[in-house]
Amino acid sequence: MKKKEIVLKGIPASPGIVTGKAFLYGREQYTITKRLIREDHVAGEIKRFKEALIQTKNEILEIKKRISDEMGAEHGQIFSAHLLVIDDSMLIEEVISRMKKEKMSIEYVFQDVLRRYIKVFSEMDDEYLKERISDINDVGRRILRNLIGAKEDVLANLKEKVIVVAYDLSPSDTATMHKRNVSGFATDIGGRTSHTAIMAKSLEIPAVVGLEVLTKKVTSGDTVIIDGTHGIVVVNPSARTMKKYDVDREKLIEFEKHLLELKNLPCVTLDGRKIELSANIEVPEDVPSVMAHGAEGIGLYRTEFFYMNRKDLPSEEEQFRAYSAVAKKMKPSPVVIRTMDLGGDKFLSQLDVPQQMNPFLGWRAIRFCLARPDVFKAQLRAILRASAHGKLRIMYPMISGLGELRQANILLEESKKELKKEGLPFDDDIEVGAMIEVPSAALTSDILAKEADFFSIGTNDLIQYSLAVDRVNEKIAYLYEPTHPAILRLIKNVVDNGHRAGIWVGMCGEMAGDIIMTIILLGLGLDEFSTSPIATPEIKRVIRAVTMSQAREIADEALTLLTGKDVEIFAKKKIKELVPEMAAEID
Ligand code: PEP
Ligand code: MG
Repeated sequence: MKKKEIVLKGIPASPGIVTGKAFLYGREQYTITKRLIREDHVAGEIKRFKEALIQTKNEILEIKKRISDEMGAEHGQIFSAHLLVIDDSMLIEEVISRMKKEKMSIEYVFQDVLRRYIKVFSEMDDEYLKERISDINDVGRRILRNLIGAKEDVLANLKEKVIVVAYDLSPSDTATMHKRNVSGFATDIGGRTSHTAIMAKSLEIPAVVGLEVLTKKVTSGDTVIIDGTHGIVVVNPSARTMKKYDVDREKLIEFEKHLLELKNLPCVTLDGRKIELSANIEVPEDVPSVMAHGAEGIGLYRTEFFYMNRKDLPSEEEQFRAYSAVAKKMKPSPVVIRTMDLGGDKFLSQLDVPQQMNPFLGWRAIRFCLARPDVFKAQLRAILRASAHGKLRIMYPMISGLGELRQANILLEESKKELKKEGLPFDDDIEVGAMIEVPSAALTSDILAKEADFFSIGTNDLIQYSLAVDRVNEKIAYLYEPTHPAILRLIKNVVDNGHRAGIWVGMCGEMAGDIIMTIILLGLGLDEFSTSPIATPEIKRVIRAVTMSQAREIADEALTLLTGKDVEIFAKKKIKELVPEMAAEID
């Protein structure tokens, strides 16, 4: 029987339309075959088991932290029950003693003991204990995965092209994905500017997040359509729906092709004002996409991905190689390297960051770097050395006041001195800028502007901090309004203060790639737009369609409006009037 079509609306995370087979991620089962072991392998098997338990425990602690941060402590508590399963000494001892006695591989014995536990629990009358079955199952699956070394690289080893459907995908999950085998993804949780969404854009695959119940409606193998432009997912589409989306996809591809024709045209307004159009990258492999989409430089290189998905810290040498490769490829265009911005929803396995109640407000980014000058200076030295090979700029994330900017600069000066002493070349005049993503920095941008060479507004964080709306929480996504009057005022303040001090002001948050905002931002005086590479052609299209006086007038009017909704309606109306070919992209 044909399954019923289900249409779900979520949050658009990365544009494009794709149809394919669903792959439900995170529920894999393992088949373990019976394997006898020799007496002299017993100690090794115990060691393997203990290591797998530790590894699993660490994984669960990390998930618990993430879920607590994103969904609230009560959801995180689910994982406390998981931890109890791992710490269950009876279970551990039973596995070890049976393995010693039966001389079977540890994974075989473990699986067997686990099955028995589940059977016993399911026969109990106690509802609470019955509920523990899914915890035991989940933890058991994780331990088995670590025992057999299957690791989390399921996503990297997919055999066919699929659409990944998951409750959540961590930035490290998306980092292991490759568009060779993942043609799109959709998740139950997450917001528009979560790093998972940002990664989807950098992979250039359609994605929808915040679908809440999707994983309950899909089984692996179902046909799904992901419309990342409008935030829609269709499960088991009817023939009619398939046809409609096929037509839409063709139209979208045609439109994108048309936009790419602008690739070699300058990014100037109708009256000749040149605007810098740059792109954001996560890894050096993103550079070809920057070029292919006609961006003129890199306005944000998010280096923290270097520190994720690995057990050791990247050395200065390794970082130097990556940064100089990017510098050389982009030369003579500029590349803004943002020093690492770990924390928030970007975790790392190596550095010992304690659990925090409010990770986005916690020990992260520049705060972390200033506390760990050894780690920070290795990065600063690597960037400085790479600056001998192209036009690099340094940018500090999460600056909240002048003190931090000064402290970071002291470490930068120290690094320069060291390199001079060692006779290593670097660009002594390298520009050093501050990201403006904390309200206190936006409000004191007049002070910061005197000691920075440029500003880049990080709206992803600036919006979440100013409006007190967690950027990764789909439940409050409706409050995450780039058009909010508070945000427009903060941006205006930053641009005006920057210009008064004679420095340029760019924007590298997702807002810079949102065509609804382009004319207003232009009118507010922004000098540089840095967006995901795929968004650059659209932004260029809009900029080339207006004059600066039109943009200023529109920005001035937007600043008089009272609510985010009013600004949004007004901005949409204006863009439809001035760039009618964009109309389909907006609704
Ligand atoms: C931002 O906050 O707008 C930004 C660009 O930084 P990230 O998204 O990496 O936090
Ligand atoms: Mg940020």
